[in-house]
Amino acid sequence: MKIAFIGLGNMGGPMAANLAKAGHEVTGFDTAGVAIDGVAQAESAAGAAKGADVVITMLPNGQILRAVADQILPAMHRGAVFLDCSTVDVESARAVADQAQAAGILPLDAPVSGGVGGAQGGTLTFMVGGAEDGFAKAGPLFDIMGQKAVHCGPSGNGQAAKICNNMILGVTMIATCEAFALADKLGLDRQAMFDVVSTSSGYSWSMNAYCPAPGVGPQSPADNGYKPGFAADLMLKDLRLSQQAAEAADADTPMGQVAMDLYARFVEDEDGKGRDFSAMLPRFESRSRG
Ligand code: NAD
Repeated sequence: MKIAFIGLGNMGGPMAANLAKAGHEVTGFDTAGVAIDGVAQAESAAGAAKGADVVITMLPNGQILRAVADQILPAMHRGAVFLDCSTVDVESARAVADQAQAAGILPLDAPVSGGVGGAQGGTLTFMVGGAEDGFAKAGPLFDIMGQKAVHCGPSGNGQAAKICNNMILGVTMIATCEAFALADKLGLDRQAMFDVVSTSSGYSWSMNAYCPAPGVGPQSPADNGYKPGFAADLMLKDLRLSQQAAEAADADTPMGQVAMDLYARFVEDEDGKGRDFSAMLPRFESRSRG
């Protein structure tokens, strides 16, 4: 397949490299002029998109996605697939999908879970919104870049699934961290805390797979000085998206609100910027009730 890949950052770079390694003809474009092994470099986003069967975008936010869509859609041919893998607001996902459909192009919003390690290893999970024909056409590419692709319904539903998942993640990570900090103050050994909770009703991915306490549970960023992993800044971005969506849909999400406020304070006023999102544990430990 002839593939264009726009946005070759921490995630997009290795995803594009995996497609090229699998034998696809990949042309990339990134405003930062990033070069990826096996990926031809275009002069512009439109230049990369011209003649491509599938155009993939992996960009920082919805505003940039909308701007890039304006550039690439006129260059794409009818029947081509526009596969956006960025995490963006549901409204932007639906707006660019409408624009693509009007031009006879098949849009898919397909944000990912699995982080940079998943992008490098080709083990991402894709949550996909869009029509069945587009999903079927992109299937072989999901197989290369990931281990699973779930079709979640019409355009925007991939982003909806992603922000709902990450709202749960933000809330459970905070709950896990504050419980560890409380357990410490109650004199409970961390290993005992992990052994109980990870096999009891308080278990979650945050505890069992990504334990925020160093030296306990499987290897996680806590064992590496809280170097991300999944940065607190990105968690904040996703929690802002879920609160924005909740407001637009008139949904009551009080825990999502608290999680967003805490991560905002952590990243903007404290020392959370550039640290893993599980560094909430040392934050809680250093605080007292008042
Ligand atoms: P990144 O900042 O490393 O990469 C984004 C790239 O887009 C940069 O290289 C930037 O130069 C490029 N770019 C910006 N504007 C552009 C434009 N107009 N045209 C072309 N290129 C442009 O970010 P990332 O970590 O790769 O994340 C990309 C997306 O994936 C985000 O939406 C993020 O929320 C999502 N995501 C990230 C992770 C993660 O762990 N990093 C996990 C899941 C999802």
